Amino acid sequence: MFHNPQFEQMQNHFDTGETRPLKTRLDLLTKLEMVIKSDSDKIAQALYQDLRKPEQESLISEVAFLIEEIGYTKKHLKSWMMPTKVKTPLALLPGKSTIHYDPLGVVLIIGPWNYPFQLALAPLIGAIAAGNCAVIKPSELTPHTSKIIVEIIKKVFRPEHVQVVEGGVDETTELLKLKWNHIFFTGSTSVGQIIMKAAAENLIPVTLELGGKSPVIVTKTSDLNLAARRIVWAKFYNTGQTCVAPDYLYVQSSVKNKLVELLKEEIQKQFGKDPQKSRDLTRIINVRNHQRLCQMIDNEKVVFGGDVDEDDLCIAPTLLEGVSWQDPVMQEEIFGPILPILEFDDLKSLIALINKEPRPLSAYLFSQATTEQTMFTEKLHFGGGCINDLIVHLSHPELPFGGLGSSGIGSYHGHTSFLTFSHQKSLMLRYSLFDFSARYAPYSQRKLNFLKKIFGLS
Ligand code: NAD
Repeated sequence: MFHNPQFEQMQNHFDTGETRPLKTRLDLLTKLEMVIKSDSDKIAQALYQDLRKPEQESLISEVAFLIEEIGYTKKHLKSWMMPTKVKTPLALLPGKSTIHYDPLGVVLIIGPWNYPFQLALAPLIGAIAAGNCAVIKPSELTPHTSKIIVEIIKKVFRPEHVQVVEGGVDETTELLKLKWNHIFFTGSTSVGQIIMKAAAENLIPVTLELGGKSPVIVTKTSDLNLAARRIVWAKFYNTGQTCVAPDYLYVQSSVKNKLVELLKEEIQKQFGKDPQKSRDLTRIINVRNHQRLCQMIDNEKVVFGGDVDEDDLCIAPTLLEGVSWQDPVMQEEIFGPILPILEFDDLKSLIALINKEPRPLSAYLFSQATTEQTMFTEKLHFGGGCINDLIVHLSHPELPFGGLGSSGIGSYHGHTSFLTFSHQKSLMLRYSLFDFSARYAPYSQRKLNFLKKIFGLS
């Protein structure tokens, strides 16, 4: 287990300053990159054992994602670490003003099971780039991946710099008693609340990367073939167990029937006539989630799919029609291969309706009309999203990734990760050339008049 003595060891290591030089950060990122590359087959194998994840998905969304993130970070790190010079206002002259990027200290990273490799290590890239020590707590539901993470971290880092602590609720609860300098959590909204409460005990700042119900909206102006192909890809990638997956679909009434037919064709194209036999369909993480998802499938409303096999943890890509907000499938984040399809007529009213729901992590619009694209961008509240595509925004290193409201607090990726794991320390260097007496007591009418003039009040 990991208790105070191990924690203090890491704090002491941080205090030596050894984690701070640019060269150390770059060398460790390079080493991490090399080990991930050389272990990529083992990583894919572990992900297959834990989730039956297809190799292509493991490569793109877990391994290549991290390689890209490390490459981008290494390329820009030197400039990110440079203090930013800012102008000094007239009233504060003479002097020089700068913002310095200080590492936070020892940080805790808690990961989920759905992209168990990527989501444990992507925050670590930011933490190391910013000069911190870190403990990673991967999900206990993906034990093979957790083991690989332990091996990789041991190959790259000294234990006082980065460590992995494996375990579930009990172990995480113990970790949450320590006085971390930051907690970075990826997981469900309900556990996010537990994390934030525990962090509040010690006033620890948190980044919470949570979930929610992310809508995809298709209007009659859209390219329906493209919309169907991309929606099927994004919804059933990792079998819907993706935080930014489209949770439900709203389609404009006049094109609903056409889109539903295209979605059915597209599912068959991508997963064949019997999706359970497809090598490209990831399995549901466990029996508990399988049962939770099955309860959301109202057989009366199934228009495609609906086949389930608990022993094989399989649920076929499923489309539901005639769904209302009162149905179980609309009561919580689905996080599985079930797509409820709802209809709308007026985009403005639909946006007003969705805005009454908790803020989603993502939102997507398929539309060729600029007015609709502008309305979506300006009026709908969501963490991040795409127009005429889905989920790809999260792989863009220059776009901060995170939610708002119940879908999260804070963001990361690229430069934003570096900032998330840094303290922006403000500093003014004052020169002793002049020392205006006006600020010092005893105050006088003459000093007051002078100050009023400076601040434009007379
Ligand atoms: P989860 O909240 O159940 O678990 C996440 C982590 O918290 C795990 O490491 C787990 O061991 C730990 N944990 C669970 N219960 C705990 C408790 N009572 N006390 C302390 N720690 C606890 O989430 P999950 O099921 O692994 O992941 C699915 C959820 O994560 C979905 O809601 C999904 O939308 C969200 N998610 C969000 C993002 C994002 O980037 N925003 C990414 C992936 C997943």
